Amino acid sequence: MSLFATNSSTETLPLVVVAVERAVDRSPDGLTYALPRELAQLPDGARVEVPLGRGETPTAGWIVRRIAEGEDIGIPREKIKPILGVDPSGVVLPGELMQFARWISAYYACPIGMTLASILPAAVRKAIGRVERTLVDLAPAPAAGAKTVIVKITKRQQHALDVLATLPRPIEIADLAEAAGYSSVEPLKRLIASGHLVATKKTSFEASFIARAGNIAPAPEPTAEQSAAIAAISRDFGQFAQHLVFGVTGSGKTEIYIRLLEECVRRGKRAILLVPEISLTPQTVGRIAARLATAKVAVLHSGLTDAQRNQQWQLLAEGGADVVVGARSALFAPIPDDSLGLVIVDEEHEPGYKQDSAPRYHGRDAAIRRAQIAKCPVVLGSATPSLESWMNAIERRISTLHRLTKRAPGLNVPKVTVVDFGAERREIRDRRVNLVGPTLRESMEKTLREGGQVLLLLNRRGYANYIACSDQRCDWMLTCTECDAGMVCHVDATGAARKSFVRCHHCLAEQLLPKQCPECGKPVTVFGLGTQRVEEELTRLFPSLVEGETMLRVDGDTMQTAKHFHDALERFGKGEVKVLMGTQMIAKGLDFPNVRLVGVISADTALALPDFRAAERTFQLVSQVSGRAGRGANPGRAVIQSFEPETPAIRLAASHDFERFAAQELADRKEFGLPPHRRLARLILRHPGESECAERAVALTHALRSFAGAVEVRGPSVCPIARIAGKYRRQIELLSDSAAEISRVLAEARSRGLLKLGEELAVDVDALSVV
Ligand code: ADP
Ligand code: ZN
Ligand code: ZN
Repeated sequence: MSLFATNSSTETLPLVVVAVERAVDRSPDGLTYALPRELAQLPDGARVEVPLGRGETPTAGWIVRRIAEGEDIGIPREKIKPILGVDPSGVVLPGELMQFARWISAYYACPIGMTLASILPAAVRKAIGRVERTLVDLAPAPAAGAKTVIVKITKRQQHALDVLATLPRPIEIADLAEAAGYSSVEPLKRLIASGHLVATKKTSFEASFIARAGNIAPAPEPTAEQSAAIAAISRDFGQFAQHLVFGVTGSGKTEIYIRLLEECVRRGKRAILLVPEISLTPQTVGRIAARLATAKVAVLHSGLTDAQRNQQWQLLAEGGADVVVGARSALFAPIPDDSLGLVIVDEEHEPGYKQDSAPRYHGRDAAIRRAQIAKCPVVLGSATPSLESWMNAIERRISTLHRLTKRAPGLNVPKVTVVDFGAERREIRDRRVNLVGPTLRESMEKTLREGGQVLLLLNRRGYANYIACSDQRCDWMLTCTECDAGMVCHVDATGAARKSFVRCHHCLAEQLLPKQCPECGKPVTVFGLGTQRVEEELTRLFPSLVEGETMLRVDGDTMQTAKHFHDALERFGKGEVKVLMGTQMIAKGLDFPNVRLVGVISADTALALPDFRAAERTFQLVSQVSGRAGRGANPGRAVIQSFEPETPAIRLAASHDFERFAAQELADRKEFGLPPHRRLARLILRHPGESECAERAVALTHALRSFAGAVEVRGPSVCPIARIAGKYRRQIELLSDSAAEISRVLAEARSRGLLKLGEELAVDVDALSVV
């Protein structure tokens, strides 16, 4: 069709801007195309196919907006090509979502087409699980006196009509064929053609997903603090406003969210509740679904099948869900325009909200923008707010702070003990025990004896993270051949024999654990920390604990799918499992009343990172994990092992003093001109050749400086991990008091074609990762 249209015929057609799904950056919104007459009704937000480049390659794109008559389009009219057609997925994004995508594209310096491509789930694009069903019913009897053409039907066909008369109708055509004893639907299709049957088409989804309600708990009476927060936030319904709910774990934040969601639905609006991917347990969803019994709750997270994801997305697009609960991508739920009434971000401080591929958006910051576009309130909640959010509430006063100072009625504040692990280690008799000190061991014994459950945290997978020569005079240490990083020893105990291998956690390369030092031939030793090693020591210390039965290790190695994780939690919830040991997966959001002891094997793992947020991360880790204890009737305890027990972040977390920690940390950051006082964008250049990488970094730095104005351009410098997967890495940092200034510099760089995202360059605005 329009493929054959001559260019001259496009001259009278309306023009649109199309964001093509390619990394083109020249014009910020997209490219200009003509809209053929038969597609004139296509709305903005529709996914289409357009010819791209000299070869006119058919390429997917999105209609961003109409071009007004007389608008300067920058290219001669006769060069404009027509759109080829609509995309078979039939997707049209709501206007607010398109506006949101444009903001993400501009702010996070990611081409609009790439941004749009990434927000539409592949399952939706490929229409996975969509089935067209044909339903049939008996044709209504012809009106008296109407002329009818009598078409003779066979006995067999009459049989089908007789059978149908006895069945509930309409019925799926295949089911009727089966009931009538036909081997195919062909005879029935002839009955449709002859007018004896009427057919209707219906689209449905193979795998529907319904958020299952958990145990219906009666709604507790809100405390005075909860009521005050609920009332203040409710007053802002219908307009954009930012709120921060700060309260220790168990202080009743979720209860506030539930009340606000109810109120939002009562007002006929819809809501988004973001939770970190990790804590998306059936617990959270079940609790919300149970309390919002009359509201429809949709769920978007990585644990869904493709067909389920498509079905949830379509449900949302049709306006069929009141509340969507999900990980950061739930911000892209296709909620119809003018109907979003509330956005909530639980555990807003979670680094997992930052996406680590383009567009590198931060779910919390993007949530604020989403609410602003929808003109509705946004509520951030945390026991340990990010310093960004804390400063916005305390210093800048652009968000309203609500403090919950007490744990909800019936919950205890856990007693936290910080153990000087350097001193304790000397007391350990058994030389094969290195990671569990006497205080932690005794507390575990007592808790288990009394029938309580234990959570043990260590933020490192594997068995041990240093592999080196046993001879101290030799300095050989195993590093990855492709990365400037050490390798981690893992033990594979699945086969009959116990086999050790080493893996690089950056490029995932693996090899067997070498037995001898390649330089001097002495035996190799492994040392350092890892969850597998904790597991081994625990079975030695507590013969009653059996891995896989009464004890479970929960980390990225054992929990490869969301289902594994959900099953593990379920077994822990039932009490079959006494000890849950693992990485940060278990540090957050879990609510098990019988957890009476929480142990942190090493609070120092985060402190060792070359990251200006190290103290903040340590504080968060210690407080979050301690908050898992004492959620039931029994008092809770936390034991934190550390080689640096006097570190302020650890000490203040143990005494539950976030406000003092935040004040000190904000002062330190100010002194060094770091976020949140200043905004930071990080540009990472990657190249297999070291000198090319360095030269490109220097050239880009020079170019940026020429138009950076007041923005500080730092670098280039070698990244903390100088090489990953065979590619050298250099970084440039942009720092400014003003986010708008950084955006301006990035936009200028993009329009000059300096920022082609891909293998060789990543742009990370408000970067959290520093490696
Ligand atoms: P948070 O989200 O801050 O960790 P939750 O909202 O999960 O806290 O509350 C912790 C526990 O206390 C939950 O079991 C909840 O049902 C209960 N709870 C919350 N608010 C109240 C209240 N006002 N009265 C009694 N129990 C409450
Ligand atoms: Zn590697
Ligand atoms: Zn050696």
